Amino acid sequence: MKNLCILGSTGSIGVSTLDVVRRFPDRFRVRSLTAGRNAKKLAEQAAEAKPERIAITDKDAYAELKSHLNGWRGEVLAGPEALCELAEEQESDYVVSAIVGAAGLLPTLSALKKGKQVGIANKEPLVMAGPLMIAAAKQGGSTILPIDSEHSAVFQSARAGNHGELRRIVLTASGGPFRTATKEKMAAATKADALNHPTWSMGAKITIDSATLMNKALEIIEAHFLFDVPYERIEVWVHPQSIVHALVEFADRSVVAQLGLPDMRLPIQYALTWPDRLDGALPELPLERMASLAFEAPDRSRFPTLDFAYEAGRKGGTAPAVLNAANEQAVALFLEDRIKFTKIFDLVGGALSAHRVQPMDDLDTVLAADRWAREHVRKTVEA
Ligand code: NAD
Ligand code: MG
Repeated sequence: MKNLCILGSTGSIGVSTLDVVRRFPDRFRVRSLTAGRNAKKLAEQAAEAKPERIAITDKDAYAELKSHLNGWRGEVLAGPEALCELAEEQESDYVVSAIVGAAGLLPTLSALKKGKQVGIANKEPLVMAGPLMIAAAKQGGSTILPIDSEHSAVFQSARAGNHGELRRIVLTASGGPFRTATKEKMAAATKADALNHPTWSMGAKITIDSATLMNKALEIIEAHFLFDVPYERIEVWVHPQSIVHALVEFADRSVVAQLGLPDMRLPIQYALTWPDRLDGALPELPLERMASLAFEAPDRSRFPTLDFAYEAGRKGGTAPAVLNAANEQAVALFLEDRIKFTKIFDLVGGALSAHRVQPMDDLDTVLAADRWAREHVRKTVEA
């Protein structure tokens, strides 16, 4: 029996995780749940999953959370520190990292340092502070299991050989809602257009990231740190059907891929049950869906984000943290209707060029770079 802490349980990944957990009552118990500010949903989840402890990050939502709790008697915590407390407590064996953005960095690091198994969907902390996260996992003796579908696919496919035999990783991208749009159409895109993802249903931030291909840019860096593969061996192919999630090429030129429906419950389940494969009664992949699988090269001129990832990766140090933070800030401004869609590219590229890269020495350096990038983006927009 594994005791789970689910960080970000009220989000898209959190809800899918609880759906997987429900299928295996003999394997998993929910020890704790956390949310940013969705008090009502967290209360509903507590009533069903019956954790011992829950936490809400936004202290102003604490009273509301208390008012929604009905028939469930456990401990309720509030504030960002509570996330670390739940992620590192001895009673949980497995932490699902499913917060969105840099906010997940500290609790995920706490779990890694304490030697937990950590299923990571929350890619932004790996991008910001990959070397620190990998070092924390080594020091704590913890195991990182990728939940991001492409990284789960690499993880699964890579089992066909050993690390020294790995020649190339190919991450696939759906291409998002603007795969075939003109530059003019992209410049005029509304929030609704950008949030209209063709194949995946996800939280707002990652959906915008999929429309700019920044999600794939972040995933290049995520793959670099998770699999210890140099950037020049990580490629991206656009695959509009979202059935093949990644391909791994070995030294003998054999290519192994992982296929599945675009349904996050499969990579979540694998991360939870690894190294076992169990029947969670998820829908099977019908042959018809594989009849016309297509692959194309990404358009690097309409989507400069991929080049930003290679640039940040080449620069190293604090550059990936700046890439991530500038993007988080730009996406937030776009979602507030303060900037147009294509301005995201200018703001992220601008922050990356203006940043003076520091070596990735410690957490303070990373957090300072993160603050600098957000500020840089805000000032650029205000100017
Ligand atoms: P979401 O917006 O649906 O949910 C985010 C969760 O984090 C919620 O529980 C929210 O309450 C919590 N949260 C938000 N801000 C917070 C803060 N400041 N402090 C504490 N908690 C906070 O996001 P999502 O789509 O579930 O994505 C979660 C992570 O997983 C992201 O990093 C995303 O890139 C990654 N991911 C998501 C998918 C997907 O299908 N949704 C696929 C692959 C990877
Ligand atoms: Mg992904």
